[in-house]
Amino acid sequence: MDRSLLGYLYSRYSMAKSKLVDSCIFCKFVKKEAGATILYQDDQVTAFRDTHPVAPTHILIIPNKHIESLNELLDDDKTLIGHMFVIARQIATQEEIHEGGYRIIVNTGPDGGQTVFHLHLHLIGGQRMRHPLG
Ligand code: AMP
Ligand code: ZN
Repeated sequence: MDRSLLGYLYSRYSMAKSKLVDSCIFCKFVKKEAGATILYQDDQVTAFRDTHPVAPTHILIIPNKHIESLNELLDDDKTLIGHMFVIARQIATQEEIHEGGYRIIVNTGPDGGQTVFHLHLHLIGGQRMRHPLG
C-alpha cells in the first residue's frame, strides 16, 4: 500500500480512537472531570459505585488507562489485571460482603452485554446470586 495512504489511514484511525477516549465517561471519572462515587483510586485503578445497582453492593473497578474491553488486553497488562482483582477483594472486604461471597463479572462486546467500552469488573454482592448466568 502507498506510504502516504497508510499515513493518512493511520491518522484517521488515531483521531477516531482519541475521540472515543475523550468522550469515555469512565475516563472522565478517572480524571475527575465527571462525578462518580469513587471508593478507591490509585495510580493504576479506580473503583466507584454503579449508578444502576443490580444488588445491594454493585461497584465497578476500572483501569485508569482506557482499554476498550478484554479484546484489547495486551501481555503487558497482566500486572494491571491482577491488581484490579486484588482491589476487588479489598473492596469486598471493606463492603463486608467477603464472607457471604460475591460475583465478579466482565462483560465483553455486544454479545457479552458490554455497554460501556472501557474495561471494568463488576463487583456484585450483598444478596444470594441467581443462576444461570447466561
Ligand atoms: P456493562 O454493561 O458491562 O458495560 O456495564 C456498564 C455499567 O456501567 C452498567 O452497570 C451501568 O449501570 C454502569 N454505568 C453506566 N453509566 C454510569 C455512570 N455514569 N456512573 C456509574 N455507573 C455507570
Ligand atoms: Zn475510557
